[in-house]
Amino acid sequence: MSLYVYKFGGTSVGSTERIRSVAEKVKKAHDLGDQIIVVLSAMSGETNRLIALAKEMQAQPTEREMDVLISTGEQVTVALLSMALHELGCDACSYTGGQVKILTDSTYTKARILHIDEARIRADLNAGKVVVVAGFQGVDGDGNITTLGRGGSDTTAVALAAALKADECHIYTDVDGVYTTDPRVEPKARRLDHITFEEMLEMASLGSKVLQIRSVEFAGKYNVALRVLSSFKEGCGTLITYEESQMESALISGIAFNRDEAKLTITGVPDLPGVAFKILGPIAEANIEVDMIVQNIADDATTDFTFTVHRNDYQRAKTLLEQTCIDLAARKVTGDNGIVKVSIVGVGMRSHAGIASTMFKTLAALGINIRMISTSEIKISVVVDEKYLELAVRELHAAFELDKVPEIA
Ligand code: ADP
Ligand code: ASP
Ligand code: MG
Repeated sequence: MSLYVYKFGGTSVGSTERIRSVAEKVKKAHDLGDQIIVVLSAMSGETNRLIALAKEMQAQPTEREMDVLISTGEQVTVALLSMALHELGCDACSYTGGQVKILTDSTYTKARILHIDEARIRADLNAGKVVVVAGFQGVDGDGNITTLGRGGSDTTAVALAAALKADECHIYTDVDGVYTTDPRVEPKARRLDHITFEEMLEMASLGSKVLQIRSVEFAGKYNVALRVLSSFKEGCGTLITYEESQMESALISGIAFNRDEAKLTITGVPDLPGVAFKILGPIAEANIEVDMIVQNIADDATTDFTFTVHRNDYQRAKTLLEQTCIDLAARKVTGDNGIVKVSIVGVGMRSHAGIASTMFKTLAALGINIRMISTSEIKISVVVDEKYLELAVRELHAAFELDKVPEIA
């Protein structure tokens, strides 16, 4: 007998008909004799609807109340799925994160899971029940409801799989696996049979929202066999693995992009020790995450300093930087919140030179100005104007022949 965790995302539970078909799929697996834990998202659009309701009530609601509100979407779907399973004659029991209990820290709206009580779930599984758990939510040490950040049901699923030592964790969604890039932007994108944890982690952190980053971190750390599949059609999906694939010898596995970027520049900063700290200190204190950082020394012993932040934090960061500009007697602050980041990712680039130049040549041929560049062992990211996003992704996809199955090494 195997233990599986199945997670179904918002579109997969977007209507009562869809919940019924999830119930049929779950029952089928359960009838084969396997133990099944199901983790559900809210119905598609529901979390956004709840956030909009909150904004109607108060411009800046407290994060604690936000979590009480936005955790409700998942409570609806777990109850409905349990009912659908009962209707099919399958014993099932639904739980909220707090009931399980999925213990988190108290960082409302982006809490981290600290511990999962397995007793209640284990007892139900041993009694032959399907256990249905609300994704995206937990409870802190004081009993407050917390949520795990957007897309957090993926992390609930992987954390449960790790805690209960499940044989596999299946993430059922509206695509049939992880693709070379978002198929909504490049229809020629190709499904990957497998991708390494390292690559998936980069793809997720660079903007591929098919899996929440923390779910991939968790799966890597606790060695959870993780698979992304379609809830609508049969197939083996994409397996996230440790080993670099023997079968595929791609230099680049995928292209990720992030539309939520903004950049800020402060020019004419005196080139002295401690300047970077003076610029970024107030930004960090305001809890604003900084992504790329570039510093250039000018001829006149001053420096220009550019960094990127999430677009939602742009105005706040700009106001803080304008104050720093006065404090440091720097020249001026400029900013742009119409930029995007496009990244190519692949463990294969570690051992190959010339990947960056192919990327830059492709963008140059399109007349796309690269505004910032950052690299690591397995990724190259560029910042470009947002109007070039689709073009850049598609042309890079073609330049690296990602639509073709790589030759066997
Ligand atoms: P769910 O509601 O099931 O959690 P998500 O919307 O969070 O689904 O994730 C699935 C979506 O991720 C797909 O519809 C697709 O547009 C997007 N996506 C982005 N990058 C990729 C990629 N590399 N491969 C597959 N899907 C991707
Ligand atoms: N419902 C939450 C969201 O929309 C969590 C999830 O779907 O994973 O972000
Ligand atoms: Mg998701």
